[in-house]
Amino acid sequence: MTTSEHSQQIADDEQGMRAALAMAQQAYDAGEVPVGAVVVLDGYIIGRGFNQPISRVDPSAHAEMVAIREAAQCIGNYRLAGATLYVTVEPCTMCTGLLIHSRIARLVYGAAEPKAGAIQSALQLPQQPFYNHVMDIKDGVLADECSQLMSDFFAMRREAKKRLKQSLQMADDSVNGGDRKEIPEPASRSKNRE
Ligand SMILES: [Zn+2]
Repeated sequence: MTTSEHSQQIADDEQGMRAALAMAQQAYDAGEVPVGAVVVLDGYIIGRGFNQPISRVDPSAHAEMVAIREAAQCIGNYRLAGATLYVTVEPCTMCTGLLIHSRIARLVYGAAEPKAGAIQSALQLPQQPFYNHVMDIKDGVLADECSQLMSDFFAMRREAKKRLKQSLQMADDSVNGGDRKEIPEPASRSKNRE
């Protein structure tokens, strides 16, 4: 990451979310669940991250974690007072904890995560009385684009799995039966992710 990339100026929340979406696209291109994040302080990006637990072989390598680590290194302080974190999808329990520990002043996120979001969906973690840090929270910024990227990713992955299954079936048929048979379309399948 070069200094010029870091010094990108962010004038408003939509621009911050666009920068986070660009990171999410990098996760998508790397075959990781497409979540992206940037940390902004005094109108400048000081940290960027995209979800990459598989490629980093690190279960903690969520977009928020990567961006916050970079931001802390950038300013030489383990506390990010006054900073805003933009992330494309509602944070999980781990990342919500990190936001509180890093003293992020403001969280802006795009799409809600109904199954495991820890801000308002599955839990309302920041509202727990045992934390002594209060964050300003804004949701729904470019939510459609953020969730569309996730839907596209899971649809693409389902399609890839289907094709793999079909080609294995074809290979199996040609080994066992000589003539290649038409592979019937699978019956309509569950729309669940996995
Ligand atoms: Zn997370």
